[in-house]
Amino acid sequence: MVQNFAFPNQAYIGGRWQATARTFTVKSPYSGEVVAEVADCGEAEAKMAADAAVAAFREWKKRTGFERGKILRRWNDLLVAHQEELGRLTALEMGKPITEAKGEVLYAASFVEWCAEEAPRVNGELIHSRFPHKRQMAVYEPVGPVYAITPWNFPTSMITRKAAPALAAGCTVIVKPAEQSPLCALYLAKLWEEAGGPPGTLQVLPALDPVPVSRVLMEDMRIRKITFTGSTPVGRILYRQGAETLKRISLELGGNAPLIVFEDADLDKAVQFTLQSKYRNAGQTCVCANRVYVHRSLEADFAQALAEAVGQLKVGDPLDPSTQIGPLVGPEGLEKVTAHVEDALAKGARVVAGGKVLGGLLYAPTVLTGIRPGMRILEEETFGPVAPLMPFEDEEQVIAWANDTEYGLAAYLWTRDLGRAFRVAEALEYGIVGVNDPVPSAMGANLPFGGYKSSGLGREGGHWGMEEFLETKLISFVLP
Ligand code: ADP
Repeated sequence: MVQNFAFPNQAYIGGRWQATARTFTVKSPYSGEVVAEVADCGEAEAKMAADAAVAAFREWKKRTGFERGKILRRWNDLLVAHQEELGRLTALEMGKPITEAKGEVLYAASFVEWCAEEAPRVNGELIHSRFPHKRQMAVYEPVGPVYAITPWNFPTSMITRKAAPALAAGCTVIVKPAEQSPLCALYLAKLWEEAGGPPGTLQVLPALDPVPVSRVLMEDMRIRKITFTGSTPVGRILYRQGAETLKRISLELGGNAPLIVFEDADLDKAVQFTLQSKYRNAGQTCVCANRVYVHRSLEADFAQALAEAVGQLKVGDPLDPSTQIGPLVGPEGLEKVTAHVEDALAKGARVVAGGKVLGGLLYAPTVLTGIRPGMRILEEETFGPVAPLMPFEDEEQVIAWANDTEYGLAAYLWTRDLGRAFRVAEALEYGIVGVNDPVPSAMGANLPFGGYKSSGLGREGGHWGMEEFLETKLISFVLP
């Protein structure tokens, strides 16, 4: 066994841990060791979960926000108390370095804490009526049972970012975690159970093939909302499927984040800024910088300094607390990174750091120069530890390049010029802009997170994230 504590591997449906006819294997992307055999849910489990979510919703929505908030508060405390276990499970099942993984657990808990506090504050509005004999109000109600599909790159926080506001609002939630990372999801359900979460309010259906579970839940009229984080092609499928039953929909999809270093940048700070934005989780976050535009006057010095800094990053075992870069999550991820680098080299780019596979699924942190339009690495999301550097001459040109993509999630710039900072931040067609800030949404339970264009619909975090799970009802009284 590669772990020293017990964790669930069965599905969590209607408040019960359930074995399934089939199971699937979760392996460490670093060592290839088997971490667990996990329940493999299909249509039958999805139907059971839908019935349980609908039944539980009738009671859960009637609880006061104060009561729901108390359970969420206990869930938060348990998450924090089990930071170590969740961090280890994260490192084991998807390869995030443990120090970073433990940080993610606190980030995940921060959504629960925030929503525990917000639950009693979902107030409505009294509206001044046009008619003297009427009294009118807008009240908020939970949208209904929710289906959440989550990715592997943030196996705890992408669940709490959805489930915490949904549960606080009075919705019930069925989570289908990514096939690479079901163990953190099940562990979260165990903690929800311990916190006193009623049966059927939060359910977790691991599945190797997402399609059968999804089909059932997407076709079910009683499931009133789908919330998804993942790739743009899958987001489009869900958007189409949701049309039939007109589900409310929130999509957090892919990105192609530009990072712009202007000529007035402090070189050392801009290098640190790029390191933090680009190499987190081995470049496997949807907000990681994907393309770096450096003013021509700085390019050579910047490339050298970044290459040196990248060379210091410690690559290796995600369970080692000193590791900064772990493996990529799977062979497809490694193939994509390798293909992007090869394509760039074939079209004239140069490697100034890294540029190779280090064995297994480890890819050396890489810096490329000589990047030009037409290279895949500029146009597609690489999702790996590779920074392609491209020089630019002026502000207008670089804004046009930055916006020349179908995506619009996160963008970054480094400058000391206040006028430029606002001008560029406002001109960027992105949902999140970090000005000298490599992690604008860090600990962002109170901040809006989401993208423009093909990066998604809706926002997670803060009151924006709660509103995604609320219906607005007009109640109008005529004074008799
Ligand atoms: P990635 O390429 O990062 O794995 P995906 O969008 O494929 O991103 O996966 C994100 C989540 O979407 C995972 O939970 C996965 O199981 C799920 N998923 C993938 N394909 C489908 C689909 N056709 N229908 C529903 N969910 C899907």
